[in-house]
Amino acid sequence: MITIDIFLALAIFLSVALGIVFFAWIFYNYFNEKTKTGVMGSVHQCPYCTHVFVNYKEQGACVCPQCRSYIT
Ligand SMILES: [Zn+2]
Repeated sequence: MITIDIFLALAIFLSVALGIVFFAWIFYNYFNEKTKTGVMGSVHQCPYCTHVFVNYKEQGACVCPQCRSYIT
């Protein structure tokens, strides 16, 4: 019969939990199509209020989300 003390039980529990998190991370990074073909935005800085934001629409002028001014 195998005797398990509290430290061995804790080590096994943490190893299993860490393994589940690791394989979930691998699964969502390599098998998720949304992350591979996601829409890439461009980073802009507003010249009026210096707010930095990401613009996901590439056409036309973008609007600063903080001061609502148009940036060309
Ligand atoms: Zn602004």
